[in-house]
Amino acid sequence: RTQRPVALLFIDLDHFKEINDTLGHATGDLLLKQVGKRLASYVRASDTVTRLGGDEFTITLAELHDIDTVTDVAQKILEDLSHPFELDDEVAYISASIGITLYPQDAASVGELLRNADQAMYESKGLGRNRFCYFTRSMQDAAQARMAISNDLRRAMGNEQLTVFYQPIVELGAGCIVKAEALLRWRHPENGEISPVDFIPIAEHTGMIVGIGNWVFQQALSQAGAWRSTHPDFSVSVNVSPVQFYRSNEAYYREWLSDCESIGRTPGAGPAVSIEITESLMMTSDETVMDKLTAFQNAGIKISLDDFGTGYSSLSYLRKFHLDYLKIDQSFVHNLEQDPANRALCEAIIVMAHKLGLKVIAEGIETPGQRDMLAGAGCDFGQGYLFSPPVGAEEFERMLRS
Ligand code: C2E
Ligand code: MG
Ligand code: MG
Repeated sequence: RTQRPVALLFIDLDHFKEINDTLGHATGDLLLKQVGKRLASYVRASDTVTRLGGDEFTITLAELHDIDTVTDVAQKILEDLSHPFELDDEVAYISASIGITLYPQDAASVGELLRNADQAMYESKGLGRNRFCYFTRSMQDAAQARMAISNDLRRAMGNEQLTVFYQPIVELGAGCIVKAEALLRWRHPENGEISPVDFIPIAEHTGMIVGIGNWVFQQALSQAGAWRSTHPDFSVSVNVSPVQFYRSNEAYYREWLSDCESIGRTPGAGPAVSIEITESLMMTSDETVMDKLTAFQNAGIKISLDDFGTGYSSLSYLRKFHLDYLKIDQSFVHNLEQDPANRALCEAIIVMAHKLGLKVIAEGIETPGQRDMLAGAGCDFGQGYLFSPPVGAEEFERMLRS
């Protein structure tokens, strides 16, 4: 009506789920109400604040005279939300990730504007949360590329473009292969090899990881079974995404527990596979996650903590749940020979893990020097290009035999 630009801010609270999990849903509701009030207090009568659902809000700034106003408002929101919220007897802290898009510059339709703002919000999350980002063309290009990958991935499984590779895990003392890590490979018909680093996050975002993950698990289980006929103690470890744990619907949860039970009843099936989880999963106070981990352990499946040292490293969770293996992240192993600090960290991690009754696997060993230092520090197992890159099942079998 006024022929002036409009800004749309998409606001998503950071880690709101944790507030719900720790303080309860009633307190979560109180927090949402107070956030709504604070948001409404920044804007003028011509602007609109809405709650889209869950912990998502939007602000529409109409009749803009000056784009700088938008930046000011976004900054003010982040600043004000950083003050504590008093909720009955509790005090809660929260931050938000904000995505901003402009009309008419970025798009002309409401649907497109909302999509843009949502993409920009994801960018904020990706950059570490508690910040705002403006929508850009390149975000849209990236979103389109993700969409293409997601469409192609849907077809990839039926068309046998996905395979599982196996990378040996070596006992450093004896120097022989005792385990393998299962790693997904995707050969795209036009674009060639696509790295799991690029497609796993998309599979997680769309929920496809659940089907794919189950398939990898089955592959690993049957492959390990075959290899155990000649190597009775052999096992294959499978990466399990946090998304597979967080799917919270009741039917899925029951199915999971009954799958684990049937693994537990099949002789040798449990010890044939182990799973790798990440630190972020251990940080949750979600009880169904802990139940699912326990179901794995009851089925005889060992649990490794992957990429140790790169996440929160808040250590207290090591007491909460008994893990079997700790995998030192390759970033510590990489500079081991040059960097005394990395060496000290590796040694300390190994001592700590052993005192807690965990075995240690070092990832990304590329040189004999790194191997020797780790073995000298008492590290139990090693994995890396020095021994072998991940290879197909047939080649792995040849390696295992020799
Ligand atoms: P990850 O679980 O930490 O796996 C180890 C990664 O390090 C693998 O990358 C492996 O190829 C690579 N690597 C092994 N040795 C060396 C070395 O000596 N030097 C260097 N520079 N790299 C080494 P990859 O296969 O690209 O997989 C990347 C990540 O994708 C994995 O990290 C894992 O988080 C994820 N991923 C792979 N397969 C699956 C899967 O089936 N399910 C899930 N949820 N995630 C998977
Ligand atoms: Mg792994
Ligand atoms: Mg790792």
